[in-house]
Amino acid sequence: MERYCKVCFEKIKFSFLRNMIESKYSICSSCQEKIKVDFSSIKVDGVKIKFLSLYDGLLKNMLLSYKESNDFELRDSILYFFLPYIKLYSLNCIFVPIPSSKESNSKRGFNHLVEILKVHKLKYIDALENVSTKNQKELAANKRMNNKNIVINKNAYQLQDKKIILFDDVYTTGSTFISSVNAIKKISPKKIKGLIIMKNQFQIN
Ligand SMILES: [Zn+2]
Repeated sequence: MERYCKVCFEKIKFSFLRNMIESKYSICSSCQEKIKVDFSSIKVDGVKIKFLSLYDGLLKNMLLSYKESNDFELRDSILYFFLPYIKLYSLNCIFVPIPSSKESNSKRGFNHLVEILKVHKLKYIDALENVSTKNQKELAANKRMNNKNIVINKNAYQLQDKKIILFDDVYTTGSTFISSVNAIKKISPKKIKGLIIMKNQFQIN
């Protein structure tokens, strides 16, 4: 079967063997090379966060098409390149997506992080709610730093004594991440770590 790159729409040319192994491959090699891979990590409030890429280049464009222009087809392509690494990093862990505001979710029509986890069959529990009414972007930076807009929901109790990974797409000020850590700590998970697809380097000091 012929396959086309979901980013540039060019035909994907792989060897027969690679075609067999990577039968669901959805990005061509030249597009993959345009991903600004950056496996750095930081520690925030005692929680280690792993990044996969800079908030730049092809992956940034893909994410924006997916979540802002509702290009739902891209849900399996954003993490594809990193999957082997993610599977290793998340061994025996349960993902907890960091929630967007209800406003952004209903505008989009889907929860973009949940759909990514689902398509790759990564075990997750939707345990957090974002109760803020204003879109994060509209709030001044100093207000964002102080908001406590993330709370646990009833699903969170399944995570007691479990190893969890807080999962988000872009790290900017870290306020949403910290708010999520504080919320999830209430049910005493065994371990908390973070995985964030892209690091907005211009915002991190
Ligand atoms: Zn391509």
